[in-house]
Amino acid sequence: MGLERIRNFCIIAHVDHGKTTLADRLLERTGTIQTRDGVELVLDSMDLERERGVTIKASAVRMRYTARDGQTYILNLIDTPGHVDFSYEVGRAMAACEGAVLLVDATQGIEAQTLANLYLALEHDLVIIPVVNKIDLPAARPDEVAREIAELIGVPESEVLRISAKLGIGVEEVLEAVVQRVPPPRGDPEAPLQALIFDSHYDPYKGVIAYVRVVNGTVSMGRKIMVMSTGVTSEPVEIGVFTPDFTPTGRLEAGEVGYVATGLKSVRECRVGDTLTTTDRPAPEPLPGFRPPKPMVFASFYPSEGEDYELLREALEKLQLNDAALVFQPETSQALGFGFRCGFLGMFHMEIVQERLEREYGLDIVATAPSVEYEVVLRDGSVRTITRPSDLPDASWIEEIREPWMKVTLITPADYIGPVMDLITSRRGVYQNMTYLDPRRVMIEAEVPLAELLIDFYDALKSRTRGYASMDYTFIGYRAGDLVRLDLLVHGQPVDALALIVHRDQAYAKGRALVEKLREVIPRQLFDVAIQAAVGGRVIARATIKAMRKDVLAKCYGGDVTRKRKLLEKQKEGKKRLKMIGRVEVPQEAFLAVLRLG
Ligand code: GDP
Repeated sequence: MGLERIRNFCIIAHVDHGKTTLADRLLERTGTIQTRDGVELVLDSMDLERERGVTIKASAVRMRYTARDGQTYILNLIDTPGHVDFSYEVGRAMAACEGAVLLVDATQGIEAQTLANLYLALEHDLVIIPVVNKIDLPAARPDEVAREIAELIGVPESEVLRISAKLGIGVEEVLEAVVQRVPPPRGDPEAPLQALIFDSHYDPYKGVIAYVRVVNGTVSMGRKIMVMSTGVTSEPVEIGVFTPDFTPTGRLEAGEVGYVATGLKSVRECRVGDTLTTTDRPAPEPLPGFRPPKPMVFASFYPSEGEDYELLREALEKLQLNDAALVFQPETSQALGFGFRCGFLGMFHMEIVQERLEREYGLDIVATAPSVEYEVVLRDGSVRTITRPSDLPDASWIEEIREPWMKVTLITPADYIGPVMDLITSRRGVYQNMTYLDPRRVMIEAEVPLAELLIDFYDALKSRTRGYASMDYTFIGYRAGDLVRLDLLVHGQPVDALALIVHRDQAYAKGRALVEKLREVIPRQLFDVAIQAAVGGRVIARATIKAMRKDVLAKCYGGDVTRKRKLLEKQKEGKKRLKMIGRVEVPQEAFLAVLRLG
């Protein structure tokens, strides 16, 4: 089939606006699948994703559709990840398409990430098909929402489709619009191979499976392929399309979307955004836009049971097979023992990894407070990057500390402008701009340090706006700030795992709160224990845990023996989880309590 009968498109939507439901309907209507059953396997395959209502990994499905013009078309629907941490992957998925369905809930209007993805789609010159969904709901405001979208993309309101994915109303119009409005792919099947990898996953039998859009040339069995950024080569194990099952075809030509099972052992060798070519006739240049994943958020993971260390290493290695963005290296902490310093794309990515370690590998993890990467300019002019507060050199060596800043876009009902502005200012943010999307909803743009977004910014935003606001952010660069290291000392001994880098203005309040918390959670010892918070060697907050007076067992004198034994056993149990800081016994829980406060 010629290129003119192929359409490659994606669906841009906010969580819960109905992407999965619409995809279901498209697959049903085109006879790609018979029932609802198979679909969720196709576009929402991980449990975790489904529970969180987002799609972590992009994937694709191929449909055959006989349009009203009597012609049969091949429609490739490419799924895009739904979270801000994966915006690079979204961009690559878009680069594999010529069109995008912009799906907006008629009761909600457009949300921040959708808007960001819409701009991304426009940057990639995709044809946008605006669609208002859920018109069956009594609370739907289809006219208002259609007007909002029409204005945003600058098309007449009549071009905005109105559908109910749930009831199947207007679904055929969506398919017709894809056929009529989205241009067919262009590309030269005779040119050297350039295939864009828009997703990849590791399969234990076939090695890394690259999801590709062939831009130029042809990939076929028996011809060796090469990953252009790394020069890694392999012989394809299988080549095919998603129907939605993996169906071997032996070859893919320019314009087509499908997969190449590469036999490679790790997704790091075959990363999203990279280009596949052939070794016998390599393309002179890779496709534009490749960028290796850059971790932005760092935290240390420690097994709460020391003996699980090897298990944790194996688990991280396994996750890494399928996650090119996850990085880790071993580290030791005097307080927490042996663990790993890990880097993530963002908070959400970190949560996913932590949850998978706990759920899929049964590990109990102690995670330190997340940190960003700082650029530290030393007096001698050299620049060091650090991700661990305890690595910050002494203040007398430091000329300047720079931290990552983000551009944050928030969409909120106009009623909550005040609380949202307060939140931005309280997080050292700088307000930039405000635009009304419609009389009721505004878009606020601001610049905020990433470190401030890490600490429950999203939750704070949601609670201040009764759940109505949405947000998106992108990295803008490093900026110098008046930052200091806040050390916590227990009985005169600094505790590495608890050190933080904070803005000087926040040091006192943070120090105070942490000292108080530690005082609450560290049990009394046989001697007085001083808890201190210090900046640059100067103590800014302190508290004392008074020595305990009586033996724990004293209160059991005369009591029954079982109770006494139970108490001793409980102590023994507790002992396992005690960490020694100097002479002071600190329960694991103390760290957790403090880290949560981070
Ligand atoms: P996704 O997160 O964008 O994939 O959204 P889903 O497809 O999972 O839909 C979220 C919720 O909205 C589900 O409960 C759907 O049943 C519901 N939904 C989707 N489309 C419609 C619609 O057209 N009308 C109504 N009333 N509900 C819908």
